[in-house]
Amino acid sequence: MKERYDVTVIGAGPAGLLAAKALAQNGFDVAVLERKQDPAAITRACGQSLLPPNEYFFGDIFHYNERDKRFCFSVSGLSFPYTGPVKSLYNWHMFSPGMKKMQFGCGEEKKTAPIALSYDKDVLIKDLLRDIACDHVDVCAGTEYTDMQFGPGTIVVKAGEKAFQSSFVIAADGTNSRVVQKLGYNSNRRHIANLYVQSCFIKGFKPPHDNAIITAVTFVDEKPVYLFLLPRAEGDEWNFIILTLEAGVDLTAAYDRITKDARFAAWFKAAKKTKEFAAIEYIYSPIQRPFRNNVLIVGDAGACQELECLGAMLTGWKGGLAIAAALKEQELGIMPRAIAQYEDWWLNTYIKQYDYQDYLSIFGIAYMFSKPEVIDYVFGLMGDESFPATFNPYRAVGLLGGRLQSLMPRIMQERPDILQVLAGTMSLFPSDIMGQTLKK
Ligand SMILES: Cc1cc2nc3c(=O)[nH]c(=O)nc-3n(C[C@H](O)[C@H](O)[C@H](O)COP(=O)(O)OP(=O)(O)OC[C@H]3O[C@@H](n4cnc5c(N)ncnc54)[C@H](O)[C@@H]3O)c2cc1C
Repeated sequence: MKERYDVTVIGAGPAGLLAAKALAQNGFDVAVLERKQDPAAITRACGQSLLPPNEYFFGDIFHYNERDKRFCFSVSGLSFPYTGPVKSLYNWHMFSPGMKKMQFGCGEEKKTAPIALSYDKDVLIKDLLRDIACDHVDVCAGTEYTDMQFGPGTIVVKAGEKAFQSSFVIAADGTNSRVVQKLGYNSNRRHIANLYVQSCFIKGFKPPHDNAIITAVTFVDEKPVYLFLLPRAEGDEWNFIILTLEAGVDLTAAYDRITKDARFAAWFKAAKKTKEFAAIEYIYSPIQRPFRNNVLIVGDAGACQELECLGAMLTGWKGGLAIAAALKEQELGIMPRAIAQYEDWWLNTYIKQYDYQDYLSIFGIAYMFSKPEVIDYVFGLMGDESFPATFNPYRAVGLLGGRLQSLMPRIMQERPDILQVLAGTMSLFPSDIMGQTLKK
């Protein structure tokens, strides 16, 4: 460990590791601080599916290069090794409380492109750590950022008793970022809700569809709960995620109730948990300008809820390159522009193209349609025909909204009472509906 680095990166998730890679490949000294003792041991709930391989996302398009065992991003030129398993997922089946179904994608047999790639996140992080070790990055595991002090040309990052000095810091400490809080960003962001998550890998799950993502909206004690089921990349294990915005839901009890519920019991009859995870996310509106006091915020730390791994990786990579260029600008004494360009990229690629209100709509369904029977009716109407293949939440929301709009005349005829409910909620922002309902 050195006394001084060019850049300190806080957080060894996908965003932090790619930021470190970009800097180290440009010849800069980088320390990555990670609070976990083993950065590759994933403890936080994650679907472990990379999306979307069938469309542009954050200005890039990615694929898995089987021959060289690398994930490749064709626009930015980023590529990194991944030696773990990959499974292609083709369809997304979404169930209502009464098991009415909507489907995105119409089947593997049609040889459509996959909508997501299931992968092993432990292996991905392990491979990235090995990759950046070759570029001489110092990864300090078991090192939790606690505070930051700013002096002329130097930032001192404190991690308990340890101190790291550098010219720039990249904050990649994920959702609920302590650095973001320290820098005062949260006072100008809107806190919308909290998301509570428990998940597990399960064996013996009998899926209603293979190689597909299955999600469901259900209610536990009248409170909305969302289920996500994704096949693991290898073998017959599945990743089962239970999420709620309601602090009062006991997610452990919910697992027992849901797996025994008549609607799902056949799927879970022989299911056995093999590994458990959890997460809490404080959902804020996104940061608009992610650079302050020589600290650049990348990945989930600056986003609303989540950027997805792809978004986190691309912001980490681009952010790392921007700081590398800024260091070079300083060295050469030329007019700085790299960081302003990164902020423009963030604004134009994320903030302007991926409306966080759309992202929230996925978790707002139960609040926008208010009652299980309304959700059933809407799913029943909209599920007549499958939607184009996507697991991109922003695109899916656009497709759903478009179809709902086109069905309005029919709803007006069949169920004017439901139209009234929809008219009341569709003119509001999802964040307002969620905020108001959760406050009650
Ligand atoms: C339930 C759930 C399901 C998801 N499913 C998917 C999915 O299917 N596909 C997908 O692409 N994305 C999914 N995501 C989102 C994905 O997990 C994130 O977008 C991605 O991991 C963000 O990467 P990151 O590097 O920004 O943050 P993180 O992955 O959160 O990494 C942050 C790192 O910083 C470390 N850290 C935090 N605080 C400190 C500190 N004070 N000091 C030092 N280190 C610190 C953490 O330990 C962690 O290693 C899901 C998320 C959740 C919660």
